[in-house]
Amino acid sequence: MGALFSAYHLWYTVWHETGTEKIDCTCHIRRGGRCVAAFERAMKKIALFAFAGIVLLLAGCAPAAQSSETFAMDTVISQTVYARDNSILIQNYDTIRALEDSMSKTLEGSDVFRLNHAGGQDVVFSSAQTAQALTGCLELARQTGGAFNPALGGVVDAWGFGTENASVPEQSQLERLLAEAEYTQVRIDGDAVNAGKAQIDLGGAAKGYALDALKITMDEAGVENALVAVGGSVYARGGKPDGSWKVGVRDPLGSTADFLAILELADSCVSTSGSYERGFTEGGVYYHHIIDPQTGYPVQNGLISVSVVDESGLKTDVYSTALFVMGLEQGLEFANSNSIDALFITEDKKIYMTDGFQYEFELINKDYQIEG
Ligand code: AMP
Ligand code: MG
Repeated sequence: MGALFSAYHLWYTVWHETGTEKIDCTCHIRRGGRCVAAFERAMKKIALFAFAGIVLLLAGCAPAAQSSETFAMDTVISQTVYARDNSILIQNYDTIRALEDSMSKTLEGSDVFRLNHAGGQDVVFSSAQTAQALTGCLELARQTGGAFNPALGGVVDAWGFGTENASVPEQSQLERLLAEAEYTQVRIDGDAVNAGKAQIDLGGAAKGYALDALKITMDEAGVENALVAVGGSVYARGGKPDGSWKVGVRDPLGSTADFLAILELADSCVSTSGSYERGFTEGGVYYHHIIDPQTGYPVQNGLISVSVVDESGLKTDVYSTALFVMGLEQGLEFANSNSIDALFITEDKKIYMTDGFQYEFELINKDYQIEG
């Protein structure tokens, strides 16, 4: 609408300024003779109409905000993409669904499902992206000393988070499954993968990886500005036409609509890992889905959420889970020494930022306090 109005305004201005020029032309008519002047006037009118037409056409094609809210990867996908039509929303959604189809642990026939049911045999992945995501996860698992462990699938399944069978597993079962959760045993040779006895779970990384895949889709489509959230992982592409994107950091103790702060982002991703995201209560105790790979139990270290900002979606997703597992002290130290931008939120409502946290951060819930 704004673009159309601008086009009309431009056309109106040009037309009326030429109206003034027509008066100047009257002088010209007197000098040059009636026929020539009439011809020139006609030509000028044609040129003006052509110009106005081009302006209107361009205005009609200008990228406008296209939005959608859909569901995939067990979470809500929110998109706002500046594009000429909504086809990119569908392409982005299809990209995410295709990744889910190959990386889901529960979907029969997915690469990860086949690997987890191969009984230690090699499996040929059908998607190069699954191999790429798993390779990235293994590298980051090594870097984080196994705080992020993509081979924890057996342990995670035993807890049954998000299913009707959610319950605290037997200690002996946890010990047996932990012994099998060896990410160092996973071998990737081209598209052939062997995980030994380990059960792979990319639930802590797939959403971030999906953001990296969307970058490629939107590069190809020539999209400059977009904000896409795949659950707790968000990609701010370019800026908003009127500034940078403002991304809400959820209040871990509030409802899904409560934000404690706003981050201003351009061309970067942010992922948040929170204990509030998934869990169940048994015997009056809340058990959440981020597992300590040492004990097989949900992490209990006083943290309730960790957010990480980076250009790479995969890194933000993996690091947010890993830093949550490490805890405040070790997590801050690890993030600072690896130049990771992170925010840690504790259950006593304190916010800790890494040294030189480089993004605009506005606290909106004053119950929380920024430390350090
Ligand atoms: P996120 O929400 O990104 O922190 O990921 C949490 C999900 O990752 C869980 O639902 C599990 O599927 C998986 N997960 C839990 N604990 C770990 C861990 N220590 N390392 C890797 N993945 C984990
Ligand atoms: Mg994660």
